[in-house]
Amino acid sequence: MNLIVIDLEWNQSASGAENTVPELPFEIIEIGAVKYGEGGKLVSEFSELIRPRVYRKMHNYTSKLVHLQMEELEKGDFFEKVAERFFKWCGPDYLLVTWGPGDIPVLQQNLKYFEVPLINDGPVAFVDAQKLFNLSEEKQTKNRRNLEYAVDHFGITKDIPFHRAFSDAYYTAQVLKKLLDKDPELIKFESFDTTIPPLDKEHEVRIVFPTYEKFISRVYENRDKAFKDRETLATRCYVCGKRAKRKIRWFSMGDRRYYCLSECEEHGLMKGKIVMHPCSDPEGVFLIKVLRLVSEKEAAVVEKRFNKVREFRKNNTNSRKAKKPGKNTSGLIPEDIGEE
Ligand SMILES: [Zn+2]
Repeated sequence: MNLIVIDLEWNQSASGAENTVPELPFEIIEIGAVKYGEGGKLVSEFSELIRPRVYRKMHNYTSKLVHLQMEELEKGDFFEKVAERFFKWCGPDYLLVTWGPGDIPVLQQNLKYFEVPLINDGPVAFVDAQKLFNLSEEKQTKNRRNLEYAVDHFGITKDIPFHRAFSDAYYTAQVLKKLLDKDPELIKFESFDTTIPPLDKEHEVRIVFPTYEKFISRVYENRDKAFKDRETLATRCYVCGKRAKRKIRWFSMGDRRYYCLSECEEHGLMKGKIVMHPCSDPEGVFLIKVLRLVSEKEAAVVEKRFNKVREFRKNNTNSRKAKKPGKNTSGLIPEDIGEE
């Protein structure tokens, strides 16, 4: 399989939201990529400008950051042609690597809009080198670093300017090499882009990482239908496959996130988290469930959260009995999921 490190530059409406095409908020104007070979050797390069057709005026931000002018882009080819050459260059079996999660959704949107075959007609697996950098060097995943920070961190020579597609792909590949030299297993921490969610059971994603399991469900008509599916709420231990006993049932703090706590006899406490994602084409929802073995301390956080919800519900029920139906003043609408 070819590892393709890719970076895109894109343009957007220069005259604000009212002139934005909803199906194409960002139009790709440049694709840069390198083929990452054995031991991080750069096998081959790809760099092409794209002649825009939707946004023909450069957005202020784009011209400032990317240093590209419309006259230059006019020399490029149309997106369909460039995309076709790009995927041919990638080869039949490839995995994309990016810096951050932003490029793949924009690529999928552009492919869809210009009617070029999608990377995948469901979630796209890719490697987010920025995430790997955080996992390896920062020991945290919340505060993301920019590419130049990572380049400096590893003392990589800055011999070409940043913020052009090819150079950023080139630097991402250099950072990736440093990361994989330290720990080749990092490459297993794939990310998934859900611009196109799974439309049926066949496209659902279930993947076990070294420290957690991720499940991306198909699209359901609505949340209630999603929860009726036994698979949605199931908490099997991802290490041994046995049923983990529920300690705290699924609950929510009133937003799109749901939590539970289970326990595998052999492997211990396991936290469940579901995030509900709305979807417009087709209309409905899909969910991403993450199961993770946790320490007693982490489990206590879930329990504390659950108690807060239970407390709130108790108070709310009492006040409703006493007075008229009470307004929820805390902004929390805790709820139970009709489970088992
Ligand atoms: Zn187990």
